[in-house]
Amino acid sequence: MSANFLSAKCRVRADLDGWGTCAIEPISAGETVAAFGGRCVSRSALDESGERPTHSVQIDDDLFIVTENGAPPGETIGHSCSPNCGIVGGILVVAMRNIAVGEILSYDHAMTMGCDLDEFRCACGSPACRRMVTGRDWMLPELQIAYRGFFSPYLAKRIGGRVRLDAERRAFAI
Ligand SMILES: [Zn+2]
Repeated sequence: MSANFLSAKCRVRADLDGWGTCAIEPISAGETVAAFGGRCVSRSALDESGERPTHSVQIDDDLFIVTENGAPPGETIGHSCSPNCGIVGGILVVAMRNIAVGEILSYDHAMTMGCDLDEFRCACGSPACRRMVTGRDWMLPELQIAYRGFFSPYLAKRIGGRVRLDAERRAFAI
């Protein structure tokens, strides 16, 4: 039994830059394609132990789901700066649009990453590639618009807070 879920409409392909997942059946917008599972670990516990997990997903300001080494099915959805999937509820990977057979599934780590733990250089090939994916990318206005409804809840809360703060500043001319 894997700690993760991957839809039967997808297949893991080892030939995709080490690992990746593509659709083997058409997937409709809004369908769940994967779910993350594993150990829940705080950032302070990771820092104290010196552990730098190969596969982790941030689910709160100071909380990560960590998967042991290997490439369990639900964690084979790679990053793209022009993704076809988004994050719902922090752990579900959901199709943002209809996905055709053969398309590689991806989400943008800006949807989950709110700190510097997993920052990385990107060469996803998208014209919109940011080259460097950081824990501050969720702040980019264009991503906040493009990924509305597909951010991890803790990031959506941060974004909502900032929007309210900006509106209050305007209203009170602070
Ligand atoms: Zn990229």
